[in-house]
Amino acid sequence: MGHILKVQPVLKEKIWGGTKLRDVYGYDIPSDHTGEAWVISGHKSGDCPIVEGEYKGKTVSWMFENHRELFGNVEGDQFPLLVKIIDAKQDLSVQVHPDNEYAKIHENSLGKTESWYVLQADEGTDMVMGHYAKTKEEFIKDIEEDKYDELLNRFKIHKGDFFYIPAGTLHAICGGSLIYEAQQSSDITYRVYDYHRKDADGNERQLHVQQSIDVTNVPADIDQNKEFSQTILENGTKTRYVDSEFFKVDRYQLNGKNVIKNDEPFMMVSIIEGTGIFEGNEVKKGDHFVICSDQKEVTFDGDMEVMISTL
Ligand code: ZN
Repeated sequence: MGHILKVQPVLKEKIWGGTKLRDVYGYDIPSDHTGEAWVISGHKSGDCPIVEGEYKGKTVSWMFENHRELFGNVEGDQFPLLVKIIDAKQDLSVQVHPDNEYAKIHENSLGKTESWYVLQADEGTDMVMGHYAKTKEEFIKDIEEDKYDELLNRFKIHKGDFFYIPAGTLHAICGGSLIYEAQQSSDITYRVYDYHRKDADGNERQLHVQQSIDVTNVPADIDQNKEFSQTILENGTKTRYVDSEFFKVDRYQLNGKNVIKNDEPFMMVSIIEGTGIFEGNEVKKGDHFVICSDQKEVTFDGDMEVMISTL
């Protein structure tokens, strides 16, 4: 039998956060402004502990360093992916992330391509993705003149939407969103616009305008592939949202018993709805696991919605 690691989320307070991480998933949040749960992470800014089994008390990064064989011996100096659940009660800043090349040179980090599955969206919730500038000059001019209403591409989102956000894509998650995020394991964010919000002392948050100009794709390239392929399972369906050079993201709608094969270096499993039995153990919404490469298949039984992200 192989290894399945149950991991515990690391919770992060954010000025834009709320209480849904407690209200929806039952997490013990530090305050009513909790914005992120890093639910599967080996990043130094939020390294998830393992809560059961022979490696109880160790962290994802420790496992990756000391038992690389459980992760298909993939190369790299850190666990490559990161899964978060984001509760945006208010708008996040308009931001962009660098690609691997820029991040390596300027930040000694991985770049950040990310993807979002919308778990919940309040009525009328927006998303910002991409922009209307045709040239870098036009892009810089709009930033200098503070013309963000004209510059930004803004639209409504709904539960069940999926978005792939390559590095270099200008974006903002807006208030009212509860989002599952699978991304490269990086914490590099360049903030270009924060709506001139001021903190209690009257100060605006730091911006990174030059870096944002350097790394933003102009013109924007956000041609989203909205046709997602579906596979019929024994007792459910699998939807594949993305298969990129950085990661794959699938959603499983399970109604009864299903055996899922693992031929990946590792699989990151998040139960996002329902309850059931996973490899003989009771699981519920808000539980997260890493299936190691030596566990060649897993059995789910119950009515559940499960996100599985892999390399
Ligand atoms: Zn982002």
